[in-house]
Amino acid sequence: MNVLQLDHVSHVYVNRKGADVALHNIQLSVEKGEFVSLIGPSGCGKTTLLSLISGLLTPSAGTVTVLGETIAKPTPSVGYMLQQDYLFPWRTILENASIGLELMGRRNDDSKQLVLELLDEMGLAAHADRYPSQLSGGMRQRVALVRTLATEPELLLLDEPFSALDYQTKLQLEDLVVETLRARGKTAVLVTHDISEAIAMSDRVIMMQPNPGRILTEVSVPEPIRETLPLRAREQQGFHELFHQLWGYLEAAGGKEKP
Ligand code: ADP
Ligand code: MG
Repeated sequence: MNVLQLDHVSHVYVNRKGADVALHNIQLSVEKGEFVSLIGPSGCGKTTLLSLISGLLTPSAGTVTVLGETIAKPTPSVGYMLQQDYLFPWRTILENASIGLELMGRRNDDSKQLVLELLDEMGLAAHADRYPSQLSGGMRQRVALVRTLATEPELLLLDEPFSALDYQTKLQLEDLVVETLRARGKTAVLVTHDISEAIAMSDRVIMMQPNPGRILTEVSVPEPIRETLPLRAREQQGFHELFHQLWGYLEAAGGKEKP
């Protein structure tokens, strides 16, 4: 089953200085349960693409379809997780994790149970009544993940969700995210500037190129790497070859992304 389909999607930002073609003629389809990464130099339109998929932006041309429906505004089928956790400091962890449900008018005893189960699964059960300032960066991102999963979206969009974390925490969270999404059969699109992360987490890696933003090429991740959780996937045969192949594409696409 096809969860996400982009057909001839282009996006132009218009401002006082003129028009900026952020994306040109994007063609992409993602199957149910697939994990796809978008990688490419700064400014190649990765965030714009996620905004179009989430319905926060409407494409200047072409169509975005999620589960067979054309996206014109944000929909509960799509969840969005960002680099910053945007937790409200005055709300407890449980209240923060429940905010999506609250906004959709779906907060009740059943949904509270679901949030508590998710918090437990993320190792946060003991922290439900604490406040964000009492948690580490990795724990806060896990709360953000619970908040995203709580509304039960079919498709998750992840915009560099690990880039503000230290290396060890990032690796632990990569495993947790893949395990959690896989167990639920969720579909995901991840934006990252980290080639290893893209290979380790995904079924497919899509390399983008700027001016105007477009798809340069895509690479399928071999079975043995795909079947292994991200931390161990890095030790699988073929991982380094793929890394160097993508590194070459990234240079061709316009160099390494700015840190
Ligand atoms: P990436 O996430 O890959 O770094 P973006 O999607 O943020 O790329 O940006 C793609 C292009 O669109 C860039 O040239 C950027 O300057 C431009 N852009 C992004 N957001 C806006 C905006 N709100 N208004 C005008 N131009 C924008
Ligand atoms: Mg971006």
